Amino acid sequence: MHQTSTAILTCMDFRFWPLALDAFAEQYGSFDLISMAGGAKNIASPTKDAYHQAMIDNIATSIKLHGTTRLVMTNHTDCGGYGGSCMFEAHDHEIEFHRCELMTAKKVIQKLFPDINVDTVILHRPNGGGELCLIGVS
Ligand SMILES: [Zn+2]
Repeated sequence: MHQTSTAILTCMDFRFWPLALDAFAEQYGSFDLISMAGGAKNIASPTKDAYHQAMIDNIATSIKLHGTTRLVMTNHTDCGGYGGSCMFEAHDHEIEFHRCELMTAKKVIQKLFPDINVDTVILHRPNGGGELCLIGVS
């Protein structure tokens, strides 16, 4: 069996690659990548039950096949799955919204998979520029 300790759940948004992947690799080493439009929205507030189930099934597969003990769930600013940054009056409101979504998603995962550790991170590219910020949420 191939082993990794970590699975990372993300939105599919191209604007965060390869910067976010490089940052994850630096922090976690090897990892499974579970990617679907909306990221943790599919856990916290899915638009379709099938999306939610697909994410849960991928997490279960990562645990079963690769011995994953840590799940890193991410959301990102200006996510089309949530209607983009224009849905929020201010940047701080958007960050707080994603913090709440990630905390909701974390509770769902901890109930379904009580033996794994869950980290939550918001990805942000200020002004859409070259910089990437990883905003830890707890
Ligand atoms: Zn997105």
